[in-house]
Amino acid sequence: MTTNNKNLKLAIQKQGRLTDETLEFLRKSSLEFESYQQKLFSLCRNFPLEIVYVRDDDIGGFVENGVVDLGIIGQNILYEVRPKVKKLLNLRFGFCSLVIAVPKESDVRRLEDLNEKIIATTYPVSTQNFLKKSNVQAKVIKIGGSVEIAPVLGIAEAIVDLSSTGSTLALNDLRIITKIYDSEAVLITNDKFSGQTSKEKLLEKLLLRFKGVLSAKNYKYVMLNAPEEIFPKLKKIVPGLKSPNISQLIKKGWLSVQTVIKEDVFWETVEKLKRVGVSKIIVLPIEKMIT
Ligand code: AMP
Repeated sequence: MTTNNKNLKLAIQKQGRLTDETLEFLRKSSLEFESYQQKLFSLCRNFPLEIVYVRDDDIGGFVENGVVDLGIIGQNILYEVRPKVKKLLNLRFGFCSLVIAVPKESDVRRLEDLNEKIIATTYPVSTQNFLKKSNVQAKVIKIGGSVEIAPVLGIAEAIVDLSSTGSTLALNDLRIITKIYDSEAVLITNDKFSGQTSKEKLLEKLLLRFKGVLSAKNYKYVMLNAPEEIFPKLKKIVPGLKSPNISQLIKKGWLSVQTVIKEDVFWETVEKLKRVGVSKIIVLPIEKMIT
């Protein structure tokens, strides 16, 4: 591994659920690098950044101890392992929830029914904290993996595990009792290089790129045609229309308007626009959005 201390070092999961989306996110941030299974690290061609591929369990510790400057891991690891690191950004991928589940035929229906029961998990800290807060007395046992199998083996009556679509739980005939927390991939750092102006500047530049990609993901670029007289109504429907691009159409009394709409209210907004008389709506993805 290179020891060029002037480069920023970012640890990411070598092989696992976060790997593909992490690489995609970094590439969308215009970072150019090679990555393949056996690779231990990549030096970016167009940014002084080294990407280090490690087990995701190691990332928090490496960031905490200053072995690397930055890491991308699931928020769930921060809750469970609590490394002394600083969260910089939520990255909007790797979504999942930590849930309590029981076999479908179990008589456990509510949280209180877990009193005196045994719960198997790879997340003992998160589980214990949640049970304590909820005033439930259950025994928590830690197992290394394949948690879903614990009830079948007769070693636990319930499990606590990560779930995203719920399909793994359903496949194993498990039913969710409650959610402990939601998680997504996050960018973390430490305070080891504060004061090192050159690295701080690099981080600033990198964050500008990352934020540009994240904002773009949250918005759509929209071009629409509307009669002039409904323009005041449009302003109310699309808050992004504070400073829209407007041009006159050849058709008299009609305007062409260009603006952005937030992804999470996109369809509601489009329905409202149609209702007030907007005629043609063209939607484009945004590659980067720098504000
Ligand atoms: P893994 O590759 O199984 O070690 O998971 C790596 C990370 O992916 C976890 O720490 C979570 O942050 C995230 N993740 C997203 N969806 C899931 C899921 N359904 N099960 C496990 N982990 C998930």
